[in-house]
Amino acid sequence: IYPGSVDAAGQRATLGVLGGGQLGRMFVHAAQRLGYFTAVLEPDAQSPAGLVSHHHIQSGYDDPAGLAQLAQRCQAITTEFENVPAQTLQTLALARPVAPSAAVVGIAQNRIEEKAHFTVCADVSGVSCAPYAVIETPDQLRAVQVERADLLPGILKTARMGYDGKGQVRVRTTVELAAAWAELGGVACVLEKMLPLTAECSVLVARGWDGQVVSFAPQRNVHVDGILAVTHAHEGNMPPALATRARDAAVSIAQHLGYVGVLCVEFFVVDDGSESGGLVVNEMAPRPHNSGHYTLDACDASQFDLQVHAMAGLPLPKPRQHSPAIMLNLLGEVWFDASGGRREPDWPAVLSLPGTHLHLYGKLDARVGRKMGHLTITGPDVAGVKTVARSAAVLLG
Ligand code: ADP
Ligand code: MG
Repeated sequence: IYPGSVDAAGQRATLGVLGGGQLGRMFVHAAQRLGYFTAVLEPDAQSPAGLVSHHHIQSGYDDPAGLAQLAQRCQAITTEFENVPAQTLQTLALARPVAPSAAVVGIAQNRIEEKAHFTVCADVSGVSCAPYAVIETPDQLRAVQVERADLLPGILKTARMGYDGKGQVRVRTTVELAAAWAELGGVACVLEKMLPLTAECSVLVARGWDGQVVSFAPQRNVHVDGILAVTHAHEGNMPPALATRARDAAVSIAQHLGYVGVLCVEFFVVDDGSESGGLVVNEMAPRPHNSGHYTLDACDASQFDLQVHAMAGLPLPKPRQHSPAIMLNLLGEVWFDASGGRREPDWPAVLSLPGTHLHLYGKLDARVGRKMGHLTITGPDVAGVKTVARSAAVLLG
């Protein structure tokens, strides 16, 4: 699908995305820069992506009329969130190339299938997931209570729909486990052993229809209350041996899935007594990821550029990071002062710091925990970037 082209019927080359959030918005920006028209399917009239797209199809993700319109408008379609109904992607795939596929999104949206995939890949990727057990029935709960004391203390996670630490309960005892499962509604869950994390990191991989694969160096992520707070993307962010292992593992996981598009694989670094620490694969997102936002400002091709290239069948540029970077997520909290009053962050002060790149997503109402934007700091050297990031964090309170 050539950027800027027009077909015999006079329709311009258009790329479609399911979902109107900030990931869709940054995807739309990247597609438009390359000369594509864009279409966003999203029920909300004022969504971050819908506001900046050429076309906004305001419909539910399972509305046949909306999906037909999207397929008619676009030459290729992607998704910006993994909880899109699998049937939606299957329906669209009958009409247009869809990347990533319904099958791999189906795996990524279910922790049970995701962990099974990681386990199958472990021989090749060299990295396993945390010890876990599946709990879908009261019998399985009882069996785990009796036989899997090794998983406690652990984290009970719903198999579906979890994000930003939602749908998770930490449990220490078999009694707490039973209560937690009830609290989560008795839905399909996995109980995962609580690991002694020393760090977390993620790797972005892009793979084309022809199997071409490129990847970014791993970034180190700091979560607060289950939500990404800071991403460190610079030399020295983690031991080089570990970085190489993570990158290789992520690539092999993407290849094993026959993945097309951008995939983010999240890892835990655990204290296993070794010098660099051990690597454990946590989960994967079948899309660009919050931890890859620094690529917009610190690399010569961003994760969103790669998503556009992959889905449109263009060659994938091997991304080169030209600056060290730190990304600070801007959650709704930033718009409130200590006494809970609404405030406007001091952008002039933040933006007068060298190397700051502000991205706001166009969301009007700030709420606690809501991702409103991010700030990436780049610079010529790591020490300088760290200093500016600290100053920015203080200003953002
Ligand atoms: P989400 O889909 O909400 O991102 P995750 O499985 O990534 O769910 O969990 C969110 C965060 O909780 C992780 O980034 C990590 O900080 C912590 N966490 C999750 N699982 C474990 C575990 N097995 N051991 C220790 N910490 C964990
Ligand atoms: Mg996660």
